Amino acid sequence: MLLATDLDGTFLGGSAADKEQLYSLLQQQKNIQLVFVTGRGIRSVLQLLENTALPRPEYIICDVGATVTHLPTLKAVEPLQSHIASRWPGDHVRETLKTVRGLLHQEAHQQYRCSYYYDEGTDIAGAREIATSLQCDLVLSAGKYLDILPAGVNKGFTLQQLLKVLALPHQHVLVAGDSMNDYSMYETGFKGVVVGDSEPELVTKTAAMAHVLQAQRPGAGGILEAMEFFPEFGIYLQKEG
Ligand SMILES: [Mg+2]
Repeated sequence: MLLATDLDGTFLGGSAADKEQLYSLLQQQKNIQLVFVTGRGIRSVLQLLENTALPRPEYIICDVGATVTHLPTLKAVEPLQSHIASRWPGDHVRETLKTVRGLLHQEAHQQYRCSYYYDEGTDIAGAREIATSLQCDLVLSAGKYLDILPAGVNKGFTLQQLLKVLALPHQHVLVAGDSMNDYSMYETGFKGVVVGDSEPELVTKTAAMAHVLQAQRPGAGGILEAMEFFPEFGIYLQKEG
């Protein structure tokens, strides 16, 4: 199977016992491919991976879907990365959005997207209008993150394209997340888990999706719960293999 998981609040979240169980399972079970799908930039993920207790993924989708890296070689996955880059209008996106009231630019390293914090004072409609005029999408998440991405690029899109490269059948994929920028992963139709303590809007929007489990346990515990719930993933819970 392939586990495609968000990091903050999902793979990095939950109780210490659940994290230990999931991480040791992934360290031992070589038949589970691991892909991180995160809003973080690659530098921040590489810093996390200095902690050797954290299982190493094969691929890392960063920047809410705007970049995709093969970890063992640290190379971008092509031609997918070039395709995304060609859709990004360029640095003038940030310049143009400077006129929008209440947008606070995030200092983190960003590629092929612009990230901001927003609050109740932010002119989201104005930002969306500018994004659309630049052929970009605006994605809100966790009640505070606002990302501008090339139109059509999101976590779900990039994961789907990566799976084409890997030629892995969809029924062997489990996606996991906890906030609205993960929603596109469930929209693709992959089996999925919305972990406990997720953003309420994500819970509401995935409630009617038969292929998505809304787990009780937060973070890593929710992922383990999903592996027990979906029969095709249960066999991977046995550690040898
Ligand atoms: Mg998250």
